[in-house]
Amino acid sequence: MRKSLVRKLREKGITNERVLDAIGKIPRHWFFDDIFVEHAYQDKAFPIAEGQTISQPYTVAFQTDLLDVSPGKKILEIGTGSGYQACVLVENGVDLVTIEYKEKLSVLAQKMLKFMGYTPKFIIGDGSLGCDKFAPYDGIIVTAGAPTVPQALVDQLKPGGHLIIPVGDRNTQRMLRLTKQSDGRISKEEYSNFSFVPLLGDDGWRK
Ligand code: SAM
Repeated sequence: MRKSLVRKLREKGITNERVLDAIGKIPRHWFFDDIFVEHAYQDKAFPIAEGQTISQPYTVAFQTDLLDVSPGKKILEIGTGSGYQACVLVENGVDLVTIEYKEKLSVLAQKMLKFMGYTPKFIIGDGSLGCDKFAPYDGIIVTAGAPTVPQALVDQLKPGGHLIIPVGDRNTQRMLRLTKQSDGRISKEEYSNFSFVPLLGDDGWRK
């Protein structure tokens, strides 16, 4: 079933072999309750606890590809959620810090990833402010929809680094890739529309 998911992602245009290898290796069904396990290898988002979702595999692959990861890069993920995206990033060899607003979700993800043998740094807090403690980052990936680009995330990016963030209203967001140039200027590339749960917090949606 994982092979067929990888095939589907190739058909949809994903070509990054490291990302496809990771998705082909990680048991996504472990993130699902037994009664929902048939949904695990469909290319769709699915509800998890606390009204949140495990991202669609295509979205995980698309964002990871834009992030341009390679072994040893320090990456900040905002929105740990189930922890699945974190597994894909760690499989790509990055040094990952992952932050989640909802304590219950982070605790569940910490247990699951420990069981699977993945050991990113987990933080519980408001990722709309980034995570200053481990900054600067080679890349930042936001897995919730933001109303605007939080300035803290731009500030915490290294020169040459990418910030991948969906920005828009509560229903639809445009995927953006912001790149910090060596002189500190920011360039912006825009991709297609996605639909994420809201980025909450001080520099996200207030409610
Ligand atoms: N990456 C996740 C995965 O692989 O399962 C999917 C994440 S889900 C689409 C978005 C997550 O962002 C939710 O778990 C939500 O609680 C979290 N979130 C929302 N606002 C946040 C914030 N300000 N800081 C950190 N996490 C936040």
